Amino acid sequence: MTTGCMLYSRAMRHAALSVRMMLLFLAFFFEAPFLFAQQNPIQEFRLPKSALPLSYKLDLTIRPEEATFAGRVLIDIELKEQVQLIWLNAKDLTIQEIHVRLGGIPKTASWRTSGEFLAIEVGEPMGPGAVQLEIRYIAPLDHKTDKTDVGAYHKKSANDWYVYTSFFAIDARRAVPCFDEPEYKTPWTIVLHVKRDDVAVSNAPAISTEEEPEGMKRVEFAPTQPLPSEMIAFAVGPFDVVDAGVAGQKRIPVRIITPRNRASEAGSASRATAELLPLLEQYTGIPYPWDKLDHLAVLEMHGAEENPGLITYRAEELLAATSADTPLHERAMRRTMTHEMAHQWFGNLVTQSWWDDVWLSEGFATWLQNKISDAQLPAFERGLQITWLRDFLLLTATVDKRPVRVSVHNRKENDAVYDLIVYWKGACILQMLEDWIGAEGLQRALHRYLSDHAFKAATSQDLVNAIAQETRIDTGPVLFGLLDRTGAPTLHFSVEGSGGAENLIVKQSAKAWTLPVCIHVQGVKPHCELVSASRTELALSGQPRWIWPNAYGSGYYRSALTGALFDRLMKAGYAELDGPERLALTGDLESLTNSGDLPAAITMKFLPQIAKDVDPWMRERAVATALELSLLANGDMRPKYRDWLQKTMHVPPVSPTQTKSFQEFFQDKRSHQDTTDP
Ligand SMILES: [Zn+2]
Repeated sequence: MTTGCMLYSRAMRHAALSVRMMLLFLAFFFEAPFLFAQQNPIQEFRLPKSALPLSYKLDLTIRPEEATFAGRVLIDIELKEQVQLIWLNAKDLTIQEIHVRLGGIPKTASWRTSGEFLAIEVGEPMGPGAVQLEIRYIAPLDHKTDKTDVGAYHKKSANDWYVYTSFFAIDARRAVPCFDEPEYKTPWTIVLHVKRDDVAVSNAPAISTEEEPEGMKRVEFAPTQPLPSEMIAFAVGPFDVVDAGVAGQKRIPVRIITPRNRASEAGSASRATAELLPLLEQYTGIPYPWDKLDHLAVLEMHGAEENPGLITYRAEELLAATSADTPLHERAMRRTMTHEMAHQWFGNLVTQSWWDDVWLSEGFATWLQNKISDAQLPAFERGLQITWLRDFLLLTATVDKRPVRVSVHNRKENDAVYDLIVYWKGACILQMLEDWIGAEGLQRALHRYLSDHAFKAATSQDLVNAIAQETRIDTGPVLFGLLDRTGAPTLHFSVEGSGGAENLIVKQSAKAWTLPVCIHVQGVKPHCELVSASRTELALSGQPRWIWPNAYGSGYYRSALTGALFDRLMKAGYAELDGPERLALTGDLESLTNSGDLPAAITMKFLPQIAKDVDPWMRERAVATALELSLLANGDMRPKYRDWLQKTMHVPPVSPTQTKSFQEFFQDKRSHQDTTDP
């Protein structure tokens, strides 16, 4: 805990603290939770709802080679109720001055910082009504070597220094005192004072540039649309700026911004936006929400960040010298770009109200990234990526070890929010929803969700409401079950019936999941039924020759059919399943065999057939599954399994040279010791 407070030095000097002030003093120093419990957000890691930020005016002086920068922020606030303290987020900032205006009247302010928070008071109750804060401060420019810079940070390349930002998810507070929570979306007006030779960019277009003394200039950017603090971004340095034309319905200007002398590496990147942005506009039915789009190549960065109007990428991902500009590189770059541009609607236009719903950003961006990429593939290759994700998650229990939605009470928990599960399971759930309620219905519902909450924040329940309004389907029990519970169920399918009519029996554990089960039988369009009990009976029409109870391959469950049902499916139905269905079937065979729900002999009976599939990825999948299952073959089964692999999958036998190499490896004790042993 640091101090920086005029009030307390004055109070100590005059030894005239009131009882109330003494308690406040103690509360800050000892963080006694019983004091000011109603107003102290430290315990909950969440700001009180009493203050609502309305707008920010941010004025920063940045010389990239220096270790710090100077800032001044004006924040207009509406107090909803009377308070003694106004709480903001601030971390590692040196606060120099704070001025408070209550209803336009200036007041003497005092403040204290504590960990992630800044508390301001004026010695009398404040509000309800308008308050304006003016805060002058010094902030550090982070400088790490392991690509984990946060807040505003600087990087050196050759003799050039650059400043970038990474405010996502709770690090805007390292660069500006603010209400650093996603639901607080306000316009931001940003002014940067930088060296005349440097380029300055931010979320909005620059509207004026004026020269200043000492070789500096003042660059003012247009006010942004309402944005959360985590999506504010700026960059300063001797950048090259590549004009990439215009894109989208509003024909917004697009640029690629690179470190000095690397403009020639922006070829692929500069072509992509005009092609990809209209696809997202078309799907959402909403024009790109901002006034410009810069793609900024950042030195030494992990991944990419979707800041509105100023998306940042690892330089190696966005740029490629001519020799490295391969189709593979371009495809990966376009996938990342599509993901980040999808966020302009899902995450930026509509932001999750709190981090427990971060899947509303990441799940959607991952799902849409695949949807847009799929649309550019031949029909028979579509839907495979999401099915791979589904299969991987159902096979790898270690990944699906926490719910998609988790609560957040501190920085450590917040860091853990952005787990792979949020991206992948979120995307899988959306694919299942689409196949269940229909592509057209979901698209309509998403348009409504985006329109109803545009420039505001939303929750998973808002999504459920939008779907219900457009389709009359209540997806809540399915959605929240999958979001709030780890893992996935195994559904056991069998048939009962006589006289030519069969019923499909679905059994699951006593703590039943609510899920749509979509049934594919010969010659009939798949239809979905909601299953929510540990035993459900579904009427089939007649006695189908085969049944695959995971039509589209997107059901987030494993399908354990009886041996007889698997026989019918593989004999008569396999060739009629589409690519994602065959992939999901093979994934389930592997997963069920590994978990012991299916005898290995059943899977081994079918793998040779799958290994002869017309599609190469299915043949590869069959071999990979067969190799994976070899781990289950113990003792004298192992040589037999190897012979079987050789005969059915054409997996070559281990050569004598390799056998010798294995022997040498295991004879040499050092080579297979755990090197982490002391
Ligand atoms: Zn993302």
